[in-house]
Amino acid sequence: EAHIGAVEALNPRLNAFITTTPDIARDRAKAADAARAAGNAPALAGIPLAIKDLFCTEGVRTTAASKILAPFIPPYESTVTARLKAAGSVMLGKANLDEFAMGSSNITSGFGPVENPWQRADGAKLVPGGSSGGSASAVAARIALGATGTDTGGSIRQPASFCGIAGIKPTYGRCSRFGIVAFASSLDQAGSMARTVEDCAILLGAMSGFDEKDSTSADRPVPDFRAACARGVKGLRIGIPAEYRVDGMAPEIEKLWQSGIDWLKRAGADIIDVSLPHTQYGLPVYYIVAPAEASSNLARYDGVRFGARVDGEDLIDLYERTRAAGFGAEVKRRVMIGTYVLSAGYYDAYYLRAQKVRALILRDFTEAFAKIDALLTPTAPSAAFAIGEKMDDPVTMYLNDVFTVPASLAGVPAMSIPAGQDARGLPLGLQVIGRHFDEETVFAVSSAIE
Ligand code: GLN
Repeated sequence: EAHIGAVEALNPRLNAFITTTPDIARDRAKAADAARAAGNAPALAGIPLAIKDLFCTEGVRTTAASKILAPFIPPYESTVTARLKAAGSVMLGKANLDEFAMGSSNITSGFGPVENPWQRADGAKLVPGGSSGGSASAVAARIALGATGTDTGGSIRQPASFCGIAGIKPTYGRCSRFGIVAFASSLDQAGSMARTVEDCAILLGAMSGFDEKDSTSADRPVPDFRAACARGVKGLRIGIPAEYRVDGMAPEIEKLWQSGIDWLKRAGADIIDVSLPHTQYGLPVYYIVAPAEASSNLARYDGVRFGARVDGEDLIDLYERTRAAGFGAEVKRRVMIGTYVLSAGYYDAYYLRAQKVRALILRDFTEAFAKIDALLTPTAPSAAFAIGEKMDDPVTMYLNDVFTVPASLAGVPAMSIPAGQDARGLPLGLQVIGRHFDEETVFAVSSAIE
């Protein structure tokens, strides 16, 4: 009841939820109480969660924060949310996000921007980051104990950093993508967001595992992530990638990174300088591959099969009117970029070349991980900015993702941990990146920083 009350009290200001589900929450809480009374409470019995509105929830509206899906009520449940439900958790509602998870600020939501609960002394309203900004805001405001997010190029890690919470994008294939509205299928991964590293570990454990309904889901056992948090870092080799010292890096980010290095050294880790030479190509490669896949994935929103429809004079007119009215500006921009880079004559020059450079970025990580166990970097180049800032030029917005997209392109696990603050007292995160399917080391290192 306290958490349902917090949704009601704070959501009018934060806009962290698109849909609230107090009745479902009460039903599930009752079921959790009954299970506890019977002595067989599952792992997450009664834990109130925010579910990013990109996860299909049976009988509960799922919008992807797009007007085109505003009336969509899925007839099925995503695998991740089905697992969380089976583990006894309580869904408080569907969390706001950037439209179709495209963005770094939650400004592109068709249901209005989300506010970061952190405030700046000058009174400016701050973005929570994105795209999982509603999830991050709800956890930071103590509305929910945890949340699901999805991360295609940083959408769990960057909002976690902006809101002062922890968040992990696991290895590509660790969580099933079945029932998650697709953005860029070769990059999309679900993950957990919570106030502590250990809470993220518990939540991720319940979300993970093989699913035959997702052909890219990995058939591997799920380790005890929670136990890994207590392992310590003695003897671990932590790599510091030279190329992440980007030009014009804010001194406070530089300082935070150095503090992280010092903490890990003191905790017994060996710090090793490494090189990821193709880092500078991460953003350009990502902003070709992700829109290409998005343009293909979003072709299904035609006004016939899903959601909203605007009638037209004939079928093509219906498609055009529906998509013109249903998609926001950023989604249209991505569909156009994606269609362009996939079109005959440009495919080889852009899409194919981007895929080749993506392979080099992956090779950078593989070579580095022959010498080290994990990497430490900043999560984002700045603290949360004000709603309305960085809006004039989409490329300025894309620069937010400079530290997060390489791990996405390589499919390796990466976590953001709240680690300090900027000169104005706003939270800043550090990022720990691990080998494929070695979330355990990521959790161990993250716990040492926390
Ligand atoms: N900010 C990146 C983008 O706009 C990442 C989004 C995401 O991870 N879903 O594409």
